[in-house]
Formats: sequence, C-alpha cells, structure tokens
Amino acid sequence: MRVQSAVMVSRYRPLVAYSVLLAAVAALWLFAELREGAEFPPAWLFAACVATNLFVWRFGLPAPRVGLISLERLLHVGLLLVWSAPVAATICAVASLAWPLVSRGYSHGSWRTAVLRGIHNAGMTVVMMLAANMAYVALDGRHPLAGIGLVDVVPLATLALVMQLVNVVLMTLFFYFDGRTIGRIVTPLYALSDFIFVPAGVLAALLFNSGSVATFSLFLALMALFVLSFNGIGGALSVAATQRDSLARVSQTRRALRGARRVDDLGKRILAETHSLLRFDEFHLGLVEPERRILDIRIHERGQSLMPRHQRPLDAGLFGWVIEHRESILVQRWADVPAILQARAELAEYDNGALLIVPLKDENEIIGLLSVQHSKAGMYGDADLHLFEQLAGQVAASIADARAFEELADYQLRLEEKVVERTGELERANREKERLIAALGERSVTLERQAEEDPLTGIANRRRFASRLMDEMDVARTTGRPLTLAIADLDRFKIVNDRLGHAVGDEVLRHSATIMKQICRSTDLVARVGGEEFAIVLPATNHKDALTLCDTLRIAIEKYDWSQLSPHLRVTLSLGLAQWSEGIDSTALQELADQQLYEAKRAGRNRVA
Ligand code: GH3
Ligand code: MG
Ligand code: MG
Repeated sequence: MRVQSAVMVSRYRPLVAYSVLLAAVAALWLFAELREGAEFPPAWLFAACVATNLFVWRFGLPAPRVGLISLERLLHVGLLLVWSAPVAATICAVASLAWPLVSRGYSHGSWRTAVLRGIHNAGMTVVMMLAANMAYVALDGRHPLAGIGLVDVVPLATLALVMQLVNVVLMTLFFYFDGRTIGRIVTPLYALSDFIFVPAGVLAALLFNSGSVATFSLFLALMALFVLSFNGIGGALSVAATQRDSLARVSQTRRALRGARRVDDLGKRILAETHSLLRFDEFHLGLVEPERRILDIRIHERGQSLMPRHQRPLDAGLFGWVIEHRESILVQRWADVPAILQARAELAEYDNGALLIVPLKDENEIIGLLSVQHSKAGMYGDADLHLFEQLAGQVAASIADARAFEELADYQLRLEEKVVERTGELERANREKERLIAALGERSVTLERQAEEDPLTGIANRRRFASRLMDEMDVARTTGRPLTLAIADLDRFKIVNDRLGHAVGDEVLRHSATIMKQICRSTDLVARVGGEEFAIVLPATNHKDALTLCDTLRIAIEKYDWSQLSPHLRVTLSLGLAQWSEGIDSTALQELADQQLYEAKRAGRNRVA
C-alpha cells in the first residue's frame, strides 16, 4: 500500500506542474487576445453554449472499444466560426472548468483529480482553439463563416488539423506525466475519431450565422436526438461488449488455474481472476469440511490485505444459507433483501452495500463458496451474478482436484513423519543395545579381573598364582630356563593384629604387597596366597639370583617407615625359596618353598632360606 501511494505521489507532482504551466500559458494568451477587444454574446447565450458543451460530454457517443467519441469538435469548430476566437475559447474553457462539478465519476470520485483535470482541459482547449484560429486566419479563412465554397476547404481543413494535432500532442504529454502507457492510448483511431464531427460544427456555424433561428433550432434538436439515441445504443453495446469480454475471460480461467496444486495457491489465483472481473472491497473463498461441520475460509481479502485463514460453523450466516440451499445470493441493495435472509445475516457484516455469494459445486456436491462484497449499494446486477457463477463453475473442479492432492500430500507428509519417528526410535533402541553390550563387556572384564585379584591388596590371588606357576613351569620345561618360587610370610603378624587392631593389620598387608610389587620385575608375579602369606614366581631366575632379589625384598620391608601406620611398629618378612627342576610338580615345588620358609622362621625370622 505504502509503496503504491509513494509511486502515485511521484507521478502526481509532475502532472500538477505540467497542468498548471499549460493553464498559465493558456490564460496569458487568452488575456492578451481578449485585451485586443472581443465582443461577448449575451449572458444567456454564453451560458447556453457552456451548457451544450456539458451536454455533449455527459451524453457523448459511447463506442465499444474506442470509449467516448467526442462530440466536442462540433462545438470547438462551430463556436470558432461564430464568435471571435478568444470568446469561443473562453466558453469552452469555462465548460472544462465546470465539468468536474457536473460529473464526479469522470475522475473516479476524487476531487483533487477532478479539479486537476478541469484545469488541464481548460488550458488545453484554449491553446488548441487559439492555435487553430491562428492557422485559419493565416490562410485567409472567412470569419464569421456565413457561406461555404471551395476557397473555404483548405482553411477549414487546416483549422481541424491544427486543433487535432495540438490536442494529440498535449494529451500525449498529459498521459506521459500521468505515468500511463502512451502507445496504448494514443492510437490512430484516437487521433482520428474527433474529425467525424468537424463537418457538423461547420454546418452548425453556417446555420447560426445565416440568422434563421428555426433552421438552427431544428439542427440543434436533431443533434440532441442523435446524441441521446446513440448514447442508449452505445451504452448497451458497451455493456454487452464488456460482458462478452468478461465471459471470454472466465472461459480462459481454467487455463490460468492449471497446475496449481495447493489450495492456497489456487485460491490466490482465483482472487486475482475475480479482481479482473469484478470490483469488490471484500472477497471470500470458503471450503466445506463436512466431517468437522465447518466452513474453512482459505482466502479472505479485505481492502487490499489478505486476512488470516479462519473457520466458521458450516450453517452460520448467509454463507450457511448458500450451502444449505445450494443457491447463489445477489444483494443489490440491502433494503430490498427478503426478511428471511436479513435474519440470517450477521448485521455487522452486511449492513449496507452489495453482495454476491455463489456456491462451488463439484459433481453436484457443494464443496465451498465464493463471495464478493462492495460498500456501494447497487454495485452488482444479474450480469455480475451470472459472471461470478460462471467463474465458480470453472474453478470448482480445480479446487476439488487441488484439495484431493493436498490431502494426499498431507497423508504422505504424515507417513514420512511416522517413518522418521520410527527410525528415531529404532536408532535409540540400537544405541541402548550397544550401550548395554559395552557395559556387559566392561562388567565381564571387571569380573574376570576380580576372579584373579586379591580384593584387599589388589595383587594376584591364589588362583592366578596357581595358573601362572603352571605356565611358567611349562616354559621352563620347554626352554630349559631356570624358575624359582619364593613363599614369603610376615613375621609375628598375629601380634600386630592383636595389639593394633585388624585395620592396621590390613594396612600392613597392603603396604607389604605394594613394596614387593615395586621391587620385583615386571616378569615376576607377586600373589597373596594366604592371610599374611605371599608367593612370588620368578621366571628365568636361578636360586642364587632369587636369593639376592628376596633379600632385597626382606630389607625393604624391614627398613620401611612403618611408623606412619602406628608409632614403634616394626614389620619383618621371612622367605623360603625353591628352584624348579624336571620332575617336580607344582605342589611339590610349593612344599619345598614352604619347608624353606619354615627353616627361615625357625632360624629366627627376618631372613631368606
Ligand atoms: P609367625 O611369625 O610364626 O608367622 O607368626 P604369626 O603370628 O605371623 O603366625 P600365625 O599363623 O600364628 O598368625 C597369622 C595371623 O595372621 C593370624 C591372623 O590374625 C592374621 N591374619 C590372617 N589373615 C589376615 C587378614 O586378612 N588380615 C589381618 N589383619 N590379619 C590376618
Ligand atoms: Mg606369620
Ligand atoms: Mg602365616
């Protein structure tokens, strides 16, 4: 809206400037001519001449496709040949200025435009007439023209030509400043149609100048009858032509609607088609939804704006009446509408103005309706109703198709959404499954580790020790490398427990295990095999080297700062060693090591045997 008015303003200003300039030039020229002396007719005759001008404009000859064939040339030429040029021009200028007061429809109801056109036309008429007269006088045209002969042909033809030429040039400028497509308006037909009445103007002047009032009156009466009857015929012709054009348009509508798959898209095209056929302030396209018992208003235009889609009960108001009775409604004047319909209408909606509602029928089923409203009463007639019904007939099938397509598309969309939803669920389930499997894997690793681990110290347990000892014995057997087993036992550990408590005892066990693991090599295995008893598998180690290692161990335990656990705490360790040799099984090897341990204890503890 705003853009449109901005464009209008920008076109309007040059048009005003041009019109005012033209009128000023005309006024100066006219005053200059008038100052040289001019004889005016009596006031009543002046007024009659102005009135005749208004009469021919009001009842001019409407011709289909050309618009009005102007009779004004009759007056322009006639007046110029009767009165002096400035007087004739003044009469026509006054008529031009008065015209907007007589016909508001001339300027689509806008006073501003009407006054502007009045000023422009007055200016143009004066310039045309004075210029034409100048040419006529220059060619020795006779004035006032009382008789006609061959000598008058050239001056008269020149008069008409100059007038027409100036008219076309000035109108072209006007259309240019009005921002209109000049090529479409200024056609040869436009330029020539006004010549038709030049001879009539000459005849009128001859009759007037001859002084016979009766003959002149007869001519005037004849012209008036001619104008009035042609006005009637021309009017009917023009209405018929308009209707024929509209019906032709309607029959092309189906083509314009082809390819619209969505109802909204189609609705907008129908709205555009309706705009080209009818004038309205408000437009509705409603579709029936039988299951929900509603009328779905898919397109609603008020003024120039599209209103939001909305729904209303299927049986409400005049729309409801149309759907129920399967009939159109034409309201020309609200006061003439039957009371039964008035009762159905929501008053706020249609308190005045004109209205058309037509049902949309697809194979005898009412699928919706179209409606137009105009604030001006009497806007629509039977022809408009007929036109609108034709349009409805053309669009109903397309709407039914688009609707079916839309439902299909919606169904497909819902289906796709479901698939996406299901896929999502499946993916979530898969991820959960994988998470569970991973958790299970971790758990089994933990379980496996726990099965071979001593829970108190975190080092290997008896089970792991037993299997590792078997493995290392196999290795020793096949490779011939030495293998030694050590059994270590904390000395007088019962006392530690008894004096300091079981908790400190546990700490001593943990620390001892850590010290032993730190000192042993990564290939050795330290295991807790009993309460305070440890076994150490020493692969690739002979008895002598094992002795050295175990002594290091023993010293480490002895020298460790046990006071951090309890003041004055002392811990020592005794170890017994046995090197494996062919023919000794694992039990025997452990017994040998145990015996050595016993020896170490017996010998005074805190030693390796
Ligand atoms: P010896 O020098 O002859 O080995 O004397 P000892 O006191 O160490 O020998 P004994 O076999 O009589 O005592 C072992 C003690 O070890 C008995 C028990 O209190 C303690 N013990 C065994 N298992 C654990 C345990 O898991 N935690 C704690 N704190 N003490 C334990
Ligand atoms: Mg002990
Ligand atoms: Mg013991």
